[in-house]
Amino acid sequence: MKQVTLSVLFILSLFVCVILHEFGHALAASRYHIHTKDITLYPIGGVARLEKMPEKPMQELIVALAGPAVNFLIVVLLFILLRLTKLPADFSIITHVTPENFLLNLAIVNGWLAVFNLIPAFPMDGGRVLRALLSLRLNRVTATKIAAIVGQTIAIIFIFLGFFNSPFLIFIGLFVFLGAMAEAEMVKSESVLKGRTAEDFVMKQIPVLQTTDTISKAVEALLNGQCKNFLVLDGNAPAGTLNRDGIIRALQQPGAEASLYSAMDKNLGYIEAAEPAEKAFVLMQQYKYPLLIVTKNNQLFGVIDMENILEYIMVINASAVK
Ligand code: ZN
Repeated sequence: MKQVTLSVLFILSLFVCVILHEFGHALAASRYHIHTKDITLYPIGGVARLEKMPEKPMQELIVALAGPAVNFLIVVLLFILLRLTKLPADFSIITHVTPENFLLNLAIVNGWLAVFNLIPAFPMDGGRVLRALLSLRLNRVTATKIAAIVGQTIAIIFIFLGFFNSPFLIFIGLFVFLGAMAEAEMVKSESVLKGRTAEDFVMKQIPVLQTTDTISKAVEALLNGQCKNFLVLDGNAPAGTLNRDGIIRALQQPGAEASLYSAMDKNLGYIEAAEPAEKAFVLMQQYKYPLLIVTKNNQLFGVIDMENILEYIMVINASAVK
């Protein structure tokens, strides 16, 4: 077999292992009735997007460990296979893949994948393991804060070592540093929203436009008011949303005299007024809704603008007793 074919085959096998790792998380999550939306592969690994993160420490621990456990399992299976096929297990030949060392190499890389993912730093699985373990004794916000500090310390060590060894370490360090920061912010926001409902954030003065309005009318509304996000109605029924970027884009194509119907974003998100504010926040982040429509008794009640929630979180954080 040609070297190129072999290398491609090796990379494909590796991708399969990464996918199996993500399936491990998904399978563990499904035990707690948490569904997985999709699995995305990045150059540095995969991400299984769960519908929500398990908040019970033991559940988070098991879901986080399930991924690396799959890689360890693959290592064990490959070693059994190596035993059965009696292929030479020569550790000295790992610079390039040969038919003889293919399985051994795959086992070694899987071992690394498991170890790498267990580094106790967000967004690695090890960060979640650490947070879950800390959560057994501490509250979730404090546990996340400590886990984030540990993660960022490790990230700084990585970046530092990267300068002397490999630029790849700097890259991983930055990735981990930002991941830890985002996780800490996310949990802080969640705790601020806890106990509040969508109704607490609703804007009853809805900035509206009609589907039959022209783009130039939308531009006018944008320039005259403070609103950047508009709800587009078809009569009385919500038909779409339009944000500032959308309006500016529509001005170029299809042009100022076109109707909003062709320019608006037709994806609408709804939430009941009594539902938790946290859900609104998650929905808007996940689907990138500029506005979320709030209903009460099946009637249009108002909208939630992401900026309102963020401002609220900032105000609460700023006035929190330190
Ligand atoms: Zn994982």
